[in-house]
Amino acid sequence: MLVSQRIRAIKPSPTLAINAKAVSMRQAGVDVISFGVGEPDFDTPKHIRDEAVRAMEEGFTRYTAVGGIPELKDAIIEKFRRDNNLSYERDEVMVSCGGKHVLYNLAQALLNPGDEVIIPAPYWVSYPPIVVLAGADPVIVGTGEADDFKLSPESLETAITPRTRLLILNSPSNPTGSVYTESQIEALADVILKYDIWVVSDEIYEKLIFDDRPFWSIAQVSEEVKSKTFVINGLSKTYAMTGWRIGYAAGAREIIAGMTKIQSQSTSNPNSIAQKAAVAALNGPQDSIQAMLRAFDQRRKYLLERLNGITGVHCNVPGGAFYAFPDFSYYFNTKMEGTTIKNSTDLCEYLLTEAHVALVPGIAFGDDNFVRFSYATGLETIKEGLDRIEDALGKLV
Ligand code: PMP
Ligand code: GLU
Repeated sequence: MLVSQRIRAIKPSPTLAINAKAVSMRQAGVDVISFGVGEPDFDTPKHIRDEAVRAMEEGFTRYTAVGGIPELKDAIIEKFRRDNNLSYERDEVMVSCGGKHVLYNLAQALLNPGDEVIIPAPYWVSYPPIVVLAGADPVIVGTGEADDFKLSPESLETAITPRTRLLILNSPSNPTGSVYTESQIEALADVILKYDIWVVSDEIYEKLIFDDRPFWSIAQVSEEVKSKTFVINGLSKTYAMTGWRIGYAAGAREIIAGMTKIQSQSTSNPNSIAQKAAVAALNGPQDSIQAMLRAFDQRRKYLLERLNGITGVHCNVPGGAFYAFPDFSYYFNTKMEGTTIKNSTDLCEYLLTEAHVALVPGIAFGDDNFVRFSYATGLETIKEGLDRIEDALGKLV
């Protein structure tokens, strides 16, 4: 075996793998409908693109400060003040190449081998591998559909051991769309303070919440809780900027300095042009977010109605993000031409080959009874995709 133990301990990102498979099927001429990868299907707003062009034309094409240009750090600080009533200094924030990279840097800077990190399931696919790559141990704590897939303070407390160092919270959640309320966040914060553990609050879907419900960051609970919290956010989802690779973190300056050190020895600064575009995104008009949210909401409602109309399928109402996470286990142990569908992977494989519809199996998020739909695709496509799924399910015996 040539590759390191570290590489052998993880798998490639399943969401990105499914996206690659759908793309290659399309290139081979297959008409694939993808509910696979989670990225907005909208263009990056024009004023943001214009700023990137201007930066390029003006020669802003060299190395920058490793942790981000001061102008961008200030725009991030202002965003926290404006949106979350949180105040940070420049040395408490840093910019990396996407939210995923921020999490990677944080795990490298905070965790030691043997540390335990509590990850509520269903979880975003990259949390456990990022923890493993830092030599620490993910501790998965299941949540149920009946509790809207939210971690309760009781199950958090039960999972804590003397080795627990960190909890990863994600609201709105990928893949369930669940949004924690203020009181639910406060109850978790009490446990965090009681056991003096750190918390990562992954707020990348902060702006994608439906029905005018408010967003609560755990860092807002109190100064004491804020001092134990690393907020992670990014531009990918809010401004349809997945390819630009800009994410940011805010939290304890000592760890931010450690993350900057890791970054200085790995990627160096995030792309200079994308940083300028990010300043325009954070400081400029925010109306594109509302337009995107309205489109997502329309799709969410349609998708939910259709999913809950399929025999044996049920789906909780996602309060945010652009995912639905329905239970498809009714179809386990059914057969197609002698082959038995045993789990979410078999079902997604079947729907991809039979119906040419790409979905992510729930097992990738730590719950095998479910399947994830990303509805970052047009209404007509969603309709056609569901028609195909219903046809294909109808062939199972
Ligand atoms: N956190 C969650 C929950 C996500 O779904 C994503 C999407 N990939 C990210 C972080 C990171 O996104 P990015 O690296 O594009 O900023
Ligand atoms: N977060 C998105 C998803 O879950 C993008 C892919 C990825 O980075 O994993 O599909």
